[in-house]
Amino acid sequence: MELAFFDGTFIRPDERKVLLEDRGYQFGDGIYEVTRVYNRTCFALDRHLARCRRSLRELRIPITYMDEELAAIHHDIIKKSGIKDGTIYFQITRGVGKRTHTFPDQVVPLLSMTIRESKPNSEWQENGIHCGLFEDIRWLRCDIKTLNLLGNIFAKQDAHDKGLQGTIQYRRNTNLITEGASSNFFCVKDGVIWTHPADNLILKGVTRSILLEEIIPHLGYTVVEKAISPEFALSADEAFVTSTSLEVTPVVNIAGHTIGDGAPGKVTQSLLASYHALVKKACYEK
Ligand code: PMP
Repeated sequence: MELAFFDGTFIRPDERKVLLEDRGYQFGDGIYEVTRVYNRTCFALDRHLARCRRSLRELRIPITYMDEELAAIHHDIIKKSGIKDGTIYFQITRGVGKRTHTFPDQVVPLLSMTIRESKPNSEWQENGIHCGLFEDIRWLRCDIKTLNLLGNIFAKQDAHDKGLQGTIQYRRNTNLITEGASSNFFCVKDGVIWTHPADNLILKGVTRSILLEEIIPHLGYTVVEKAISPEFALSADEAFVTSTSLEVTPVVNIAGHTIGDGAPGKVTQSLLASYHALVKKACYEK
């Protein structure tokens, strides 16, 4: 059963509860996280909560929800919903205040959360996806997971309009790829894995960090955290995107150009298998 949490209580997701002068609603003044539930267990919750805290700090929103409390609400929403495999979305806005751009003197941050059933797209993982290229028009603090997503929405809509499954964004001034619309981008060339450094131009994905810190060192691949051009990506042997929802999903075509031999590559497949092994250990063998 889909379920939501709003300002301290559990409600149906369609109940009318948005407060008119919530700064999240009027300004996108808030942060969010998306976590995945496997077998009634939230995967990598600690990493998501750490990023949530960092996003709040960067936006100067007081930290009023402690990690233990957020973890307990995650636990409760999973239990009450009865959902075994799903996605949890939560956001914390700066709170409710008279509409002025500057921070109100006194606000209480507001937490809301939803849980829905979902599963990773195994067809995409087996066959790979086709992506478009789209100019990255977002602001220069993409490292903060804020509610302001219009740049990402335009990037995704462009792919949708073209019948594609994903988008890869690049900055026009540098001709360098940043990331997907809601994923991190990687390519593999001559056995080396390339991805954008975790600076202000990309979101430091939890899945990206798990690959770099917990998986790749064991598999022995070399990683270069350096931005690459679209031309370089098109000449790669393999490409893939990562996110909580997509896990590791191969990219087999970019802007009409086939990547490698057009099938998911060996490195990508080994990363996905290792990721699934980590999920199994964390969520099924507790
Ligand atoms: N970049 C952007 C812009 C995103 O929205 C996301 C998904 N939240 C990611 C990367 C991947 O992050 P994660 O692995 O934490 O889901």
